[in-house]
Amino acid sequence: MPTSSCPLCARRRTPADVAGLVWSSQHETDGAVTWICPTCTRAQLWRIEALLSVASPTAPTAPTPLRPAA
Ligand SMILES: [Zn+2]
Repeated sequence: MPTSSCPLCARRRTPADVAGLVWSSQHETDGAVTWICPTCTRAQLWRIEALLSVASPTAPTAPTPLRPAA
């Protein structure tokens, strides 16, 4: 598995996490899959909903300020 930790906070993705289905997957243009931990998923949810790239293992995006709650 090429990506076994969160690219945003470097948290390791454990077998329990795999079984729990709480991590979100992001499919890269090269076919790789990046896994985002639940904490970062919630933090970046607006980006995911906007179909924006959250992070890339090869070219991490800059830290994204959270939008104020609507
Ligand atoms: Zn994370």
